[in-house]
This record gives sequence, C-alpha cells and structure tokens, in this order.
Amino acid sequence: MTDPQPDPNAVAPTVKDLETIVSLSKRRGFVFPSSEIYGGINAVWDYGPLGVELKNNVKRAWWRAMVQERDEIVGLDSGILMHPQIWVTSGHVAEFNDPMIECATCKRRYRVDEFAGTEDLGPKDLLDPETVARLGLVCPNDGGPLGAPRRFNLMLKTFLGPVEEEAAVVYLRPETAQGIYVNYRNVRDTARKKVPFGIAQIGKAFRNEISPGNFVFRMREFEQMEMQYFVRPETAADTFEGWLPRRKAWYEAYGVAPERLRFREHRPDELAHYAKKAVDVEYRFPFGWKELEGIHNRGDWDLGRHSKESGENLEYFDQATGEHFIPWIVETSAGADRAAFTFLIDAYREEEVRGEKRVVLGFHPDLAPYKVAVLPLLKKRPEIVELCHRIKDDLKRHTMAVYDDTAAIGKLYRRQDEIGTPWCVTVDVDSLDDGNVTVRDRDAMMQERISADQVTRYITDRLDAARPHGL
Ligand code: ATP
Repeated sequence: MTDPQPDPNAVAPTVKDLETIVSLSKRRGFVFPSSEIYGGINAVWDYGPLGVELKNNVKRAWWRAMVQERDEIVGLDSGILMHPQIWVTSGHVAEFNDPMIECATCKRRYRVDEFAGTEDLGPKDLLDPETVARLGLVCPNDGGPLGAPRRFNLMLKTFLGPVEEEAAVVYLRPETAQGIYVNYRNVRDTARKKVPFGIAQIGKAFRNEISPGNFVFRMREFEQMEMQYFVRPETAADTFEGWLPRRKAWYEAYGVAPERLRFREHRPDELAHYAKKAVDVEYRFPFGWKELEGIHNRGDWDLGRHSKESGENLEYFDQATGEHFIPWIVETSAGADRAAFTFLIDAYREEEVRGEKRVVLGFHPDLAPYKVAVLPLLKKRPEIVELCHRIKDDLKRHTMAVYDDTAAIGKLYRRQDEIGTPWCVTVDVDSLDDGNVTVRDRDAMMQERISADQVTRYITDRLDAARPHGL
C-alpha cells in the first residue's frame, strides 16, 4: 500500500544542500566528526553539547509514545554482544549483506544499488555480473572499470575473551531487535503480558556499511529505536496496518512537515529475508526520498527459528482459548540518529526580518536542546545579572535553561533562534522596579511582560501544553 502522493519530485527539501546543515551542526555544537584531531574515522560522528540534548529528547519522545503512554508495551535494554549463534539463527550471517562492486584501478568499493538506473532492480539483478555492463557503470571516483558484484556481509566482528580465534568471534549487533526476541519469554512471564503486547528498546547498532555518507544519515555506529509487537497470527496484518499511520503521525506531531513524509512499500523481491510485508516511512532529504523508519510484518520467522535452534519452547499459551502458538511479530524500526537529523533539517528555515537574514531552527519545544535562554539587557548592572541567574537556576530545576551575556541583545536573540531555543527571557532596568521580565517567543517574535516569579510556571505550562499525547 502506497499513499496517494503528489509528484514526489515536486516536494522540495527544506534546504537545497546538506552543507548548510553540516556546517551549522559543526559551528553550533550539534555534531562533530569523530576522532577529528586524528583526521577522523569514516562514518562515525560525535554529538556535541546541543546534539546530545536533541538526540536525548528524540529518544525520550519516542519512549513516551511507545512505552510510557501505552499499557501493553514495556521496555528492555539488552546487551550489544550476544551469543554468536543468535546471528546464525536470525539469518544475518547468511543473509545480511549488500551487493558490492569494486573499482579495478582505485579499489574503491560501492553498493550496487546506489548507482543511478538500479532503482527498480531486485537482489538477483543487483548481483548479476551483466548488470554492470548493461547499465554502463564505471567508478564514480576515477572512471575505472568495475568488477562483478558480490555479497558483502555488514556485521562487525570482534573477539570475546583473551584468545583471538574463530571460536571466540562475536558480533556487534547490527539491530537491537534480536535482543528483544531472545528475551521475549522472560519479559512475557515477568511483566505478565498477554498478546498483543510489545517490547521496546533503544540502543546502539553497528553495520560495516560499504558506502556510508550523507552526514549522519548512514553511519557505521548508530542508535536504533525498535519496538516488537507480539500478536496472534491472524491479527498480524491488521496490526501492521494500524502501526503505519501511528508512526507517521509521531514525526508530524514533533514538527516534520507532512508533505515531506510518505510511505513506500517494498516490492516482493526487495523484502528482507525475515519480512512478509514491509513499508518504509520516507522523508524528503536534500539528497532524495530515503528511509526514516521501517515497519515490518516478520511473521513467525524470529520466534520460530529461535525456538527450533535453541530447543526452548517459545510458544504462547492462550488461556482463554486453550491454544498454543508462536506469536507473529510486527516491528517498527527507527533510527535515533536519522530521526534527530530529520527533525534538525526539517526545522531549518531562513527568513528576512527588518532587512536582515534570520536563521531559525523551529524545533518542537520538546525537542529543542535548550527551552529557555535568560538574557540581561545590561550586563554591567549586577542586580540585573543576579536576577537573571535566579530565574535561570529556578528553571533548571525543571528543564534546560541557559544564561548568556556575551553580546548585545539582538545578537543574543539571533543565536538562540539559530539553535532553536523556543523562549528567551530578558531582564532589564524596569525589571528591578516592577519585578516583570520580557518573554520573547522564537517563532512569532512576540514579546510579553510577565512577573519574574511566574517564569518557571509559564515555561513549564507552555511545555506541557505543547507536548503531544496519545500517539
Ligand atoms: P538502508 O536500506 O537505508 O540500508 P535498512 O533497510 O537496512 O536501511 P533497517 O534494517 O530497516 O534499515 O533499519 C531500521 C532503521 O535503522 C532505519 O530505518 C534507519 O533509521 C536506521 N538505520 C539503519 N542503518 C543505519 C545506518 N547505517 N546509519 C544510521 N541509521 C541507520
């Protein structure tokens, strides 16, 4: 099922070039290249002071919608390292690979499916040596000839224990889902859950991507936010359809423009080894429509395989009907980094205000790294500075607030606009007489005078009112 869509090419991204976002991220402390003083390491990125706040807020918003506000979904935090047999059983050792080609001259390697003209090819064609000649593919780096495609397994390996031998190989998990499947019985029994119920997990995953890139879109170390929903087999198809609008609505509720989101269903020859049906939520990135989140009907593949290979009974007993069955699984699998990146890009806007360019990150208040900046109109007046700190310290008991006096007020406002702070509180000379301060709204740029004593209440009320519920 694909949503009725307008011409996808007609939907413009918020920024034409990714560079605008990459440089803002670096300049303001959202994202830094990892290991930069050593020249960096490909496809690993570090989150700076603002980035870590944004990503934590994204993860909290997801957890709130998936666990906190739902009775039938509980959380889990399983290990990154697991018994290596899990990845054999799950099919990842045999199947988790991308078709890769290598340039005969410069030796660079590429994913076949990232070349123009391969969009509609299935896995067989992507691995067919004829495809390279038929499409006239050459190395994008030096124009050299490309070899025959072959499979490249994406899992990263390491050794557990003091001996580096084959028997000690373990994998860094390429998805968080398997940790949920192997804990399914523990959670079911301890949380006393009856189907349908779900288990949610946020955590690191690792993939040795062949051609990473587009900033934090495709990394080798990243975080996933996955939820596995265990259902009766005959209800899986409906459950799947139910999660699609809910997951799209989550991105919209936190500010992503609906016209830059769409569903895309996987063709049968494109389906992952475990999937019966798969639909991606896609976003219109500056580099095209790309997957933001995958929603999969995994059938009984996972629990069936784990049950067989481990010899443990993972069947569910339905007391009401007296039936035993392996639950089917509907999964929603999102990337925390990709979601944070999307919220960051989609929030970006440039405006002209009184003849000057204003850059704004129009974050949903719940996602904004700082909720409030407290600013003095005159930093030379100690009473003003002291009142600023008093207001800021009180706010900090509830939320992220910051004090800044390193520029004139106009510049301080612009700085906060550029990092998406929804409110600024300004203390001036009059505040010392009447006890009132100015609250400025980032988007409307309206200013309101309120009592200094009421600032914390005002901000926490606004945050509460803005927070989406029941997603
Ligand atoms: P792609 O087709 O882009 O390689 P995928 O189909 O392999 O992605 P899934 O296995 O469905 O992706 O992973 C679920 C989610 O995890 C993705 O929708 C994405 O948000 C996130 N994700 C996957 N791989 C990466 C990566 N290399 N870097 C950042 N996030 C990722």
